[in-house]
Amino acid sequence: MPNDCIFCKIIKGEIPTDFLYKDKEIVAFKDINPQAPVHILITPVKHIPTINEIQDDDLQLVGKMVNVAKKLAKKTNIAQKGYKLIINVEKGGGQEIFHIHMHLMGGW
Ligand code: AMP
Ligand code: ZN
Repeated sequence: MPNDCIFCKIIKGEIPTDFLYKDKEIVAFKDINPQAPVHILITPVKHIPTINEIQDDDLQLVGKMVNVAKKLAKKTNIAQKGYKLIINVEKGGGQEIFHIHMHLMGGW
């Protein structure tokens, strides 16, 4: 993993962060610049730069990200009303941090 990856630093605890979810494979924390009343980032511990680099072995990981998003939507009381799950891919897709992550946004 590149040692300049900000999300790897967050995951390793090098940048103090309140985790809303954390297990061996997935972590979640609040977006530093929220674009919605609830704006959470869900990311794998494994450093994968973009969805373009996803391998067959990673498919379970992507499923787990969706499952964590679902749980956090319920926990933050936005599940019933509805929310967006967004993965930006590459610069043209709006990706700024090259460690895959899913945006959970809602609460409007
Ligand atoms: P993306 O454009 O999909 O790569 O999204 C990157 C997101 O990471 C943006 O919404 C940023 O606000 C967010 N972000 C950047 N640095 C941090 C940080 N240190 N802690 C939490 N969120 C961050
Ligand atoms: Zn990383």
